[in-house]
Amino acid sequence: MAEVDVKKIARGDFTWRSLPLAAMIKVPTSLEYKTSDWRIEKPEIDQSKCIKCLLCWIYCPDMSIKRLDEGRVEVDYDFCKGCGICAEVCPTKAIKMVEE
Ligand code: SF4
Ligand code: SF4
Repeated sequence: MAEVDVKKIARGDFTWRSLPLAAMIKVPTSLEYKTSDWRIEKPEIDQSKCIKCLLCWIYCPDMSIKRLDEGRVEVDYDFCKGCGICAEVCPTKAIKMVEE
């Protein structure tokens, strides 16, 4: 795999024309890069109010709602950014945003 030399870029010897036609990004992948550290509020699910409609799972822009067995859902706090969309769309108000 072709490596990009940052010194060449700084010197102007490496332009977009030098890039290979296809590229692969090495690990760490986005799975290993936790993206939730700037969250200021987090969603908490009251399972007793959840009707398992999965709207939170559908609408979460970060795929941070995990589906468990029997339709139950939980939040993946490693990637949830605290946008609150899940709480907005939940028809039974089972999701509450709370301060970190
Ligand atoms: S707060 Fe936003 S990112 Fe976090 S689970 Fe809800 S919809 Fe997804
Ligand atoms: S939107 Fe609310 S009721 Fe529907 S699955 Fe999510 S937490 Fe449960």
